[in-house]
Amino acid sequence: TVGALTLSGSGSMAAATSTSGLFMKRPGRIGDSALSGSGYYVDSEVGGAAATGLGEDIMKGCLSYEIVRQMAEGASPQEACDRAVYPFIAKLRRRYGKAGACSLIALDNRGRWGVASNVEFTFCIASSDHAPQVMLANPAP
Ligand code: ASP
Repeated sequence: TVGALTLSGSGSMAAATSTSGLFMKRPGRIGDSALSGSGYYVDSEVGGAAATGLGEDIMKGCLSYEIVRQMAEGASPQEACDRAVYPFIAKLRRRYGKAGACSLIALDNRGRWGVASNVEFTFCIASSDHAPQVMLANPAP
């Protein structure tokens, strides 16, 4: 999945995802990427989030919505990613003994960003002031 979050000069935000789904997926499977709240979510008054990884796990937590909800309550994008994603991954491990790959990006309406992942995850930041910068998020916890 490729996910993108944007903030325009006028303060309008957008989220987009593009995916081929999981390798060897069943015909007709719809993953998280097409589902608002799971694979992506955006509210221009707050911020947005987008996900990649095992859709069945991401959907169980409505993780993109949960990150935006955390930001609406005052969390920075990084705090929101940490609070939404890592406890949820721990919960999956407690309940099912494992958690699939789960990587999320967040951007708020002030241009601040955050990322959370339980696998090595490459992402890119760009703005009108800064050339695109590719970064690597290390898995945590
Ligand atoms: N999240 C996608 C899905 O479950 C797969 C991916 O991110 O590669 O369909």
